[in-house]
Amino acid sequence: MPAMENQLYDVIIVGRGPVGLFLACELLLQDVSVLVVERRLAMGLGDLPETRACIVHARTQEILAARGLLPTFNKVSSKTNWWHYGILETRLQFGALDDETLENHVMFTPQSQTEEILLRRALELGVVVQLGAKVKSLDQSADEVTLRGSLIKDTNGDSIEEDFTVRGKYVVGCDGWRSSVRELAKFNWEQRDATHVMWSAEATPGVDMGPFNITKNDAGILIMCKMDVPSGRSRIACWTPSRNDLDATEPFTLEEFNQALTEITGRDNRLGNPKGLARFTNMSGYVTEYRKGRVFLGGDAAHRHLPAGGQGMNLGIQEVNNLAWKLGAVIRGEAPDTLLDTYGSERLSIAQGVVTNTTAQSLLFFAHTRPETAIRESLNKILEVPEANRKLALEISGLSHAYPAPLEMIRPEGWDALPKELSGKRAPDVKVRTTDGDEKYLHDFLKGGKWVQFVFSDRHSTGNVGVPAFVGRTEVVSVAEILGNWGGMYKGPHSQILIRPDGHFGFGKL
Ligand SMILES: Cc1cc2nc3c(=O)[nH]c(=O)nc-3n(C[C@H](O)[C@H](O)[C@H](O)COP(=O)(O)OP(=O)(O)OC[C@H]3O[C@@H](n4cnc5c(N)ncnc54)[C@H](O)[C@@H]3O)c2cc1C
Repeated sequence: MPAMENQLYDVIIVGRGPVGLFLACELLLQDVSVLVVERRLAMGLGDLPETRACIVHARTQEILAARGLLPTFNKVSSKTNWWHYGILETRLQFGALDDETLENHVMFTPQSQTEEILLRRALELGVVVQLGAKVKSLDQSADEVTLRGSLIKDTNGDSIEEDFTVRGKYVVGCDGWRSSVRELAKFNWEQRDATHVMWSAEATPGVDMGPFNITKNDAGILIMCKMDVPSGRSRIACWTPSRNDLDATEPFTLEEFNQALTEITGRDNRLGNPKGLARFTNMSGYVTEYRKGRVFLGGDAAHRHLPAGGQGMNLGIQEVNNLAWKLGAVIRGEAPDTLLDTYGSERLSIAQGVVTNTTAQSLLFFAHTRPETAIRESLNKILEVPEANRKLALEISGLSHAYPAPLEMIRPEGWDALPKELSGKRAPDVKVRTTDGDEKYLHDFLKGGKWVQFVFSDRHSTGNVGVPAFVGRTEVVSVAEILGNWGGMYKGPHSQILIRPDGHFGFGKL
């Protein structure tokens, strides 16, 4: 029997997609034991497309920076300071967010690279990954969750299937949109069925299609970006009205794909070297709660939508960034169980917001009636207004997501909830000069997944200076000066500020 069967893990993650892997990295920083069970046999992507979730938005980049991973991502990524919303001709200007973030761009990282970097990091931190393990049943008691399923072992080319049982204090289903965990734990799932089916592939154009090609015309729509992958393939998605076959499992050939693109671009793009020819739809769905007792969901298991604007994986990474430190605190006995309820209360409306904006984008993608094209025309004009463009760019990038309700159940004695202009907002990644004369960014202090306590030396402090609010889990920083342009949010009356491990404002001390 596998060694994993004898242990009670703190957390079992089902699924080693990008969200499960990032959650594993996060939890390991919280000093808890983690087992990942994955039904696939191979560590790598195998036949799956290399590039799928290639768009990494600014907030995710900040989160990666806060864990020291962004420099590794930068080495295998390209960037643009604009992207589209609903294939509108007026583009979203992420470059204009330079007064908000260091990451005022969209980053393109092939999903294969994202998974490889996260997997390498999780293994360095000591994760246990059980491949070939498909979860089929789930039972929870007051203290633990038991998962059972079938384990496929590949021994010298022969597959043997046997049963497995694993136990965890908590389980997080990161097992994709057809989530078994969601079904087994009986989460409620609200679904809107597909009306449109798009085609997607990775292929090498035989002609220069430029770094990006984002087109909507009477023949259909095309979203293409050239990826920096060794195979030289580009990521291409398209839709034409005559190919809107709602059976998303129906295969198509490269020739058919090439023909669809020829109709849209008006020339033969001579596609070759294809991989991952697949259909995807605008079906949308989300859970109405993120927790059932000791079971949580993250990533596509909790929400699914048209991949418009590249938000699904970003949403998943951002939400498990919220969950991991809370699980760590509860498992270590430093916080009450009610803290775990705030995962759902903080994240659900954000996931619903993404489903809403992708539903709106779906209408813009496939618009062809006069009222629908009139909406496109109006929005094109509205997005020319810098403030409107900025608001949408902040939403899609994840930078404006906030958790306004103070976490009263963990407010340390002597600390206050912050005023509503700050409470739960993302703490800008400011550069600070410490009283030791060092110059560092907030992300440098967040690397260990701990709270960050800024103690402002120029403001009168009522005491406890240097004493961590969460003992052993706080980086105390004696701040001489906030440098740069966007330190305004730190300039309130508080002599000390606590920033949560996920980089949002927590509490203040006058
Ligand atoms: C064409 C396309 C383009 C996209 N582009 C972007 C983009 O640019 N940016 C973006 O943010 N998002 C994008 N997305 C969405 C993105 O791909 C998903 O949101 C992301 O992959 C979700 O990751 P995940 O880890 O939640 O789930 P998955 O990647 O689906 O991983 C789930 C894992 O769970 C395993 N599993 C499933 N069931 C079981 C079981 N019973 N037992 C054990 N293991 C199990 C699976 O084998 C899999 O490894 C795109 C999607 C599509 C279709």
